[in-house]
Amino acid sequence: MFPGGSIEDFTAPLFVAWQLTNRCAGRCLACCEESGPAKAWPDELSREEALDLARRLAEAGIPYVAFGGGEPLQVPHVWELFQTLSDGGVAIKIETDGRWIDEAAAARLASLRVDNVQVSVDGASAPTHAAMRPGAATLAEATAALTRLVARGIPAELVYVPTRDNLQEALATYDLAASLGCDAFVTGPLMRLGRAAAAWAELAPSDADWAATVQALRARHEARGDGRPRLSIYPWDIETEIRKRLESPQAMMLIVPNGRVKLLNALPFAPGDLRRQSVEEAWRSYQQGWRSPAVAAFIGRCRDEPELMRHANETWPPSPEDQAAAN
Ligand code: SF4
Repeated sequence: MFPGGSIEDFTAPLFVAWQLTNRCAGRCLACCEESGPAKAWPDELSREEALDLARRLAEAGIPYVAFGGGEPLQVPHVWELFQTLSDGGVAIKIETDGRWIDEAAAARLASLRVDNVQVSVDGASAPTHAAMRPGAATLAEATAALTRLVARGIPAELVYVPTRDNLQEALATYDLAASLGCDAFVTGPLMRLGRAAAAWAELAPSDADWAATVQALRARHEARGDGRPRLSIYPWDIETEIRKRLESPQAMMLIVPNGRVKLLNALPFAPGDLRRQSVEEAWRSYQQGWRSPAVAAFIGRCRDEPELMRHANETWPPSPEDQAAAN
């Protein structure tokens, strides 16, 4: 990510991913966060705490905050956070199921410093999308949201998660993104996390089927000739991702719903805590976390013991050894 450099060269993160809540309306089969209607964490940041944090992120000069969840747009104070960040010069990205983007919300987003909005669409037909995403926005709701974003000139990205049950609609979903005027079609291999990990044997496409789909998507993108929608295919599975990140951590800080700072959503290590630390202190904790022998040992074991990934959505505080090394 930064050739010749390391995260220690950065006095602040280049961007922040903020999982505002773990609550949403869905029970999606492949949800890597195991979010759902009754899945809010008991200790999620209050409105006052979240607003204070947004102010601190802006003051720290963070250029970019990406909101995810759960469903960030379901959080009552989310618009105050957007306004605070936008007024503070921070660009915003949003990951959503689309249900909450009506005309008024699209107009409001257009008035903010929104870099892009990603909407999940897991199939080109309503039954396939609904089967993948029970309880979440319907295909009609998700595509209506994308249409409203495009109409307001907000870069809209369609996010598609491949499984054995919807792989046959991958090309048609790319075509749908094109017909809606989306800026990008975003996908990647199914991540062995959360509910996807729990149902891996039934859900995961074979490597060969995924490789053939990637090839077909590239051909479709090429055949369109205009480069739109941009095709963004994440290259790594989750085991590769955590090994690569250990070698070269990103200058990205992940904030989970209770204000803790995690190394990666696939790892349980949460070395920072923005309820009691400044942004600068939490960033240092994050940097030190990546250099922890315990983290390296855990990642080393994950290849042979993939069941360790069941801890992904936990938040482990720093070990006494790591705390001593940090002081
Ligand atoms: S994928 Fe999104 S909408 Fe579906 S359960 Fe997870 S957070 Fe909720």
